[in-house]
Amino acid sequence: MTKAKDGSNWGVNTKLAHSGNDPHDFFGFVNPPVVHASTVLFPDCATMESGDQKYTYGTHGTPTTDALAGAVDGLEGSAGTIIVPSGLAAVTVPLLAFLKSGDHLLMVDSVYFPTRRFCDTMLLNLGVEISYYDPLIGAGIEALIKPNTKVVFTESPGSNTMEIQDIPAIAAAAHKHDAVVMMDNTWATPIYFKALDFGVDISIHAATKYPGGHADVLLGLVSANEKHWQQLEDAQTNLGVCGNPNESYQVLRGLRTMGVRLAHHQKSALEIAQKMKGMAGVIDVLHPALSDFPGHDLWKRDFKGSSGLFSFVLDGGPSRDLWRRKSHAFLDALQIFGLGYSWGGYESLAVRVSLKDRTIATGPQEGPVIRLQIGLEDTADLLADIERGLSAANDIASA
Ligand SMILES: *Cc1c(COP(=O)(O)O)cnc(C)c1O
Repeated sequence: MTKAKDGSNWGVNTKLAHSGNDPHDFFGFVNPPVVHASTVLFPDCATMESGDQKYTYGTHGTPTTDALAGAVDGLEGSAGTIIVPSGLAAVTVPLLAFLKSGDHLLMVDSVYFPTRRFCDTMLLNLGVEISYYDPLIGAGIEALIKPNTKVVFTESPGSNTMEIQDIPAIAAAAHKHDAVVMMDNTWATPIYFKALDFGVDISIHAATKYPGGHADVLLGLVSANEKHWQQLEDAQTNLGVCGNPNESYQVLRGLRTMGVRLAHHQKSALEIAQKMKGMAGVIDVLHPALSDFPGHDLWKRDFKGSSGLFSFVLDGGPSRDLWRRKSHAFLDALQIFGLGYSWGGYESLAVRVSLKDRTIATGPQEGPVIRLQIGLEDTADLLADIERGLSAANDIASA
């Protein structure tokens, strides 16, 4: 006997706590088992021939990966979700699934750099034509669509510079010409941006970030609407990039607390961003929830919240050499913020970003851009750390 559940009207934290697996499927244990599997046995030859049982082989899913994929479908409102070994694989697998030689891809210029690297190397070698477009283009994207445009790829906010894209306008233009709309939705998570409701066909997440939440897992998630699910799932089967049971379990575990963690990241990051606006040595703060940020109105229209990642422009002085010295002084003086890649964990991080790859969305030119991931520490301590960094940078003389 199991208790009936109808979670369709649940609030997001209730969904996070209760979706994915039914404890009564496994003796009532609250969490699903971590199933390590390659072989699955069939009771007889006839079943083996028909393949007519729930699980058939480890690469095609297990109770552990199903629990995670099911939970994510509940959040995204998707028809299906594939689990892949990293966030970058969550970008490359759908691109490979929907593009072939001779096709044209429209890629946002403010994209996560490794996505661009994949496009400019492997996709190009496979004979795919790629054009980069301005993240602020909105409905104007229609003018860039060619007869062979098959995919329009979006990422909002833009990587490091936080440009907000008009996703509904871009999706409407793309769909008029039968192009598939993909979005790297890692920053907002499905909690703060429910991509499929805004016309996105394929929603991509580095689960390494907030879903994992503890800087100890690499995993990617790709969710598709009904129209695109089968082609996405076939690509995963053909490529053999499947989710690992331990990582899938850890990400499901992370999802249970993602709502409360994100609320804390949001509140702390916004408080810090607001206070940084008035600090000596800060030229600008790039955070979509700040009312004077250029993309603020679009963000407010479409997003339900903001996460813990934003950037600021440091007053670097007149020369590039000084920019380098002042940003090193800022970063080296930090005691709580770690210097490292990735984000979405419980701990704060800082990194100087490079915008050298950009061709259109070249970003702020007034000084070096530094990205902050605001973790779960107390904001008073983080603010003191930032003040320490700024005063070290401000101490570097312009001479
Ligand atoms: C980190 C990140 C990825 C890649 O995730 P990995 O798990 O590190 O490969 C993809 N897209 C965005 C926006 C990211 O921030």
